[in-house]
Amino acid sequence: MATERELAYRRREAKAARLKTIARLIPVLKNIKPLAWYLAKSWEKQIRKSTEQNIARREKPPGAVRDRAEMGIAILRTVTRAIIEDRLSPRTVEKLLKVLLAEAIVKEGEISIKEAFRQKYGVIPPAFMLISPTKKCNLYCIGCYADSDRTEIKLSWPVLDRLVTEAKQFWGARFMVFSGGEPLMYEDEGHTIMDLVEKHDDVFFLMYTNGTLIDEKLARRMAGTGNIMPAISVEGLKESTERRRGRGVFDSILRAFENLRKEKVFFGISLTVTRNNADEVFSDEVVDFYFGQQGAHFAWVFQYMPIGRAFTLDLLPTPEQRLRMYRRAWELVYKKHLFLVDFWNSGTATHGCISAGRSGGYMVVNWDGTVTPCVFLPYSPVNIYEIYGQGRNLIDVWANPFFADLREWQRRYGYGRNLAAEGRVRNWIMPCPMRDHYGELYELLKKHRPRPIDENAAEALTDPEYYQGLVEYDRKVASLLDPIWEENYLRGNAGGQPGSS
Ligand code: SF4
Repeated sequence: MATERELAYRRREAKAARLKTIARLIPVLKNIKPLAWYLAKSWEKQIRKSTEQNIARREKPPGAVRDRAEMGIAILRTVTRAIIEDRLSPRTVEKLLKVLLAEAIVKEGEISIKEAFRQKYGVIPPAFMLISPTKKCNLYCIGCYADSDRTEIKLSWPVLDRLVTEAKQFWGARFMVFSGGEPLMYEDEGHTIMDLVEKHDDVFFLMYTNGTLIDEKLARRMAGTGNIMPAISVEGLKESTERRRGRGVFDSILRAFENLRKEKVFFGISLTVTRNNADEVFSDEVVDFYFGQQGAHFAWVFQYMPIGRAFTLDLLPTPEQRLRMYRRAWELVYKKHLFLVDFWNSGTATHGCISAGRSGGYMVVNWDGTVTPCVFLPYSPVNIYEIYGQGRNLIDVWANPFFADLREWQRRYGYGRNLAAEGRVRNWIMPCPMRDHYGELYELLKKHRPRPIDENAAEALTDPEYYQGLVEYDRKVASLLDPIWEENYLRGNAGGQPGSS
């Protein structure tokens, strides 16, 4: 008899197969709009039905089950809308459905590879990797988390290519992220980032970029490969964006949007929220401007982290701002069905922290080969050049004791635990070891002594005021957000649904 796991795999395979069939029917479907909407709606209905069943089982925090389902529905509606409105190139539609939705989201990677990994190591592997291929950037933004500038430090092409190949081969990964520096400035041995994207067309890439280098030719190339979604960084509207990123940058970004719209690329925005712009970024005006007028398909929101250039605790959104953002972000997902992911208010949908190579999570490789648990956790126990030089591979990186201990912390926190059988799951609205539980992370940093990746990270580690400030911040955030977690996620099942407490 098939086990629960095998049944779950079969369900995922069946859903992925359905998506691939739909992909083949798109040329017909997009001309019969009511039929396309009918298919999307019936899929949605199934998601809602299984959500209620999962909530009733109480194996996972019920509110988190609801949030995750609503995020899935928002993504489904976003893609359906874009297809029906003919806003995506044929190749983009194909790759979105077959690679991003079917392989990366529904199956969460190649099932046979994931299962082989699980049998050997006892857990499901990470689902993706974030690679910052170069430190170089053509802008010099205030507070850049990567402290990027014109410095040319980059991964070699063979290593970059090998990282993607190994993530596919050992983890079954079908999704990959580029961050910066500016990924579009990467060049080695005559190869660029787009060469990598084209070479690995069984992977879908998300690229954080400042957007200034996306001309018509590049947008056309993206539409032609179809397996890349650029997320262009903004800070709100023109004034806030140029205050941080420099004069003239906003107009370059608008030109990039225009090129991407014209060529029908699946593009979006990424926003950094500080104490100064927290209320602006989620305003109706900003949302309408980007999603409505500019045609962005998605938004990734990052609350400021006190790392990188001129780091300071003074820019962290206040606990009250975090609560307002939490309500607003989920309102946009639940009511407007926008594909909007807010790190960290969407932590309920990812079941907490995804760093350190957690199952279905990720890890980061930087331009100099340093590997960190997360882009916002700038401490590295291992360097990919050393690993490869010793004849080892990505699995050895994953097995590093610091990463393993962080994964154990995530498990104790609640990831993968059965609520009904094993009891308590801690608050996933404040899931971050770096920012929300610094006292606990600090103990792990003391134990494993991973190397700070830059002077800023080294300075933070030895600064008692930084430690005290973050611990105090965490205490205040918890006193505001813990009651909501208890009420909406553990006792009740409202999740981030508008109108809940
Ligand atoms: S370390 Fe923090 S920022 Fe990174 S994945 Fe975990 S929760 Fe998110």
